[in-house]
Amino acid sequence: MSTTTRPMPAKTEPIAAAPHPTLRVYNTLSREKESFRTVRPGKVGIYLCGPTVYDKAHIGHMVGPVIFDCIKRYLEYCGYDVTWVVNITDVDDKLIKKATERGISMLQVAEENIADYEGNLTALGVDQIDHFPRATDCMPEIIQFIEELIERGFAYASDGDVYFDVGRDAQYGKLSNRTLDSVHGEGGETAARKRHVADFALWKSAKPGEPSWKSPWGEGRPGWHIECSAMSRKLLGETFDIHGGGLDLMFPHHENEIAQSECCHAKPMVTYWAHNGLLRAGAVSGKIGGRTEREGGELASASGQPADVVSGKMSRSKGAGGLADLIKRQGGERIRFFLLRTHYRSTVLFNEPAIEEAGVGLESFYRLFKRYTRITGKDFYALKPATKREQGEPASAGGDPVLTAAATCRQKFITAMDDDFNTGGAIGELFELAKVTNKFCDDADLEGKGKTDAAAIAKFTTLLTTIKELASILGIFLHAPAQAGAGGDELLAKVMPLVIELRASARKNKNFAVADKIRDALGPIGVTLEDRAGGTEWSVGEPASAGGPALDGIMQLLIQLRADARAAKDFATGDTIRNQLTAAGITLEDRAGGTEWTKA
Ligand SMILES: [Zn+2]
Repeated sequence: MSTTTRPMPAKTEPIAAAPHPTLRVYNTLSREKESFRTVRPGKVGIYLCGPTVYDKAHIGHMVGPVIFDCIKRYLEYCGYDVTWVVNITDVDDKLIKKATERGISMLQVAEENIADYEGNLTALGVDQIDHFPRATDCMPEIIQFIEELIERGFAYASDGDVYFDVGRDAQYGKLSNRTLDSVHGEGGETAARKRHVADFALWKSAKPGEPSWKSPWGEGRPGWHIECSAMSRKLLGETFDIHGGGLDLMFPHHENEIAQSECCHAKPMVTYWAHNGLLRAGAVSGKIGGRTEREGGELASASGQPADVVSGKMSRSKGAGGLADLIKRQGGERIRFFLLRTHYRSTVLFNEPAIEEAGVGLESFYRLFKRYTRITGKDFYALKPATKREQGEPASAGGDPVLTAAATCRQKFITAMDDDFNTGGAIGELFELAKVTNKFCDDADLEGKGKTDAAAIAKFTTLLTTIKELASILGIFLHAPAQAGAGGDELLAKVMPLVIELRASARKNKNFAVADKIRDALGPIGVTLEDRAGGTEWSVGEPASAGGPALDGIMQLLIQLRADARAAKDFATGDTIRNQLTAAGITLEDRAGGTEWTKA
């Protein structure tokens, strides 16, 4: 039999020079970190295999989206124009089975679970995806792709099915390091229709009652692998830069994608194959900002724990469900931070105390941001840092030891991200920078005598702006925790009656200074009061200025009103504020530097 083989992808493909030669990306194909170069100058195409939407998402489904969201942010920070595609598999055996079980259509099953998936992405701050193609929306492209493969001798129709002919592909197995002899294929009833056991379905003929589409081979539906080849070509071209997915997809899914695309186009499909580690349930928690938890990839050696704490790859059957509930309990920012703490290629050990521990790390930043507000009267979340690598501050420290320390943290952060997107190392530098900032604040006594030192305040603001710059790359601290986390709106509803009551009593007592203070505080955070016959109503819209989200703004106002009341020896009002907040589940803590609030 004559063999048509695809050519070896040439390393001399027109690949643009690297603007940042230090940026290196691990490539599963070469098993090496390679310097990052793009197919088209200044542009990056990323394709991530998305979910098969037959059930609700679990936290394991979020590992890839969170890390690639961060990778896209970093590449844009490095000056690239990035297009990121995540496909949605909405036709598949599991969806058909689920629809039959529940007595609803496959489309309904898909719609429900896509809504769940998108809600989870939003909660985790994943908002960088440019295209969400669905398999059922790409039928013409899929059928076209299969026709081309048949035409070029790499696929054959058999009894209403179409199979990829692995025997024609001399490079089959190159991604997962397999030989054809070691691949056993699906077997079963379809084995008789295939030339080689390892041949895989591009098109499956429809069984009675199954959802199906018309094709040159009869009614049927596509196999899973072909949709990714067709969608990536449609949206990113025949050759693109980064293909991501969980390690469990390397074989057979990605091996088959490469076979389809490279045989069809006689050119490389992807420059970098980037596989993220999987999430496992485990009793181990890592160090905040540390690099120990996942480093090295192997569970037992990375964690120092016996392997029996590990109950296997996170999946629905392991009881990992309820991501939406987990988000309600923990807040999306904590979960995102937890996932980014160490390197994406290693295994993530998941347990809820570890997420809480990540939350403790986040709280130390939130406290610093409140400190910034106390000192400057400004909102950390309104700071506008540099968005490009070349423009970051402090660009030149001018010999100042604090700014030099900050510049070093920033450089080390970038070095970590350049090293195959080492977010764990980068987070370690962010903690270091927070430490430098808090120490500067203490040394300069910014909450005391230093409060009027304009130069020191300016330096303090530069430090906070640098934290915001680096955190934005990780996609954290973009919004105040009341918005990023859970329960903000509920708390606001409990706290607003107190604000209204204080305003009414101030007006009654002709204490117009207090009434004005309340009015002035509400405007910038988007809270509106309306006096009506039945009482005062409140509503919250978009913040009218950079005043930040409502809950924290209201809390700062109440803390101020309580301090004013106490200063005026009006202890009754001071106590009312504290007691009503306690009833609403908010604790006030008076500290040397001012009062802080926490959710009980
Ligand atoms: Zn895929």
